[in-house]
Amino acid sequence: MKKLTCIICPNGCVLDVGSADGGIKVSGNLCPKGEAYARAEVISPKRTISSSIRVIGGDSEIVSVRLDRAVPKDMIFPVMDAIRRAHASAPVHIGDVLIHDVAGTGADVIAIEDIS
Ligand code: SF4
Repeated sequence: MKKLTCIICPNGCVLDVGSADGGIKVSGNLCPKGEAYARAEVISPKRTISSSIRVIGGDSEIVSVRLDRAVPKDMIFPVMDAIRRAHASAPVHIGDVLIHDVAGTGADVIAIEDIS
């Protein structure tokens, strides 16, 4: 039996996750989203990332970015490495894709602020 805290909403339900009848049994969830979250965590855990990328020629030296989708947990370090090595040229607009298919994950790194 494993305990997880559901991070889908602020309720933060504590989930008990175990195996039963060859499958996964989840309890402690107040709604179905918690069960889906627990199953995904056990089978294929994913995470999203917020960070920043250097900007050349802008009124700020960095732009805040995030991934457009969660990536497998074991790809966090390769993704962070790609973000660390990247740079953008001003101007940067909210929603601009600054890295496409980062580290081969299929996720894009997008700007979440304007830099002029
Ligand atoms: S199980 Fe449902 S109610 Fe509980 S934290 Fe997760 S999403 Fe929120």
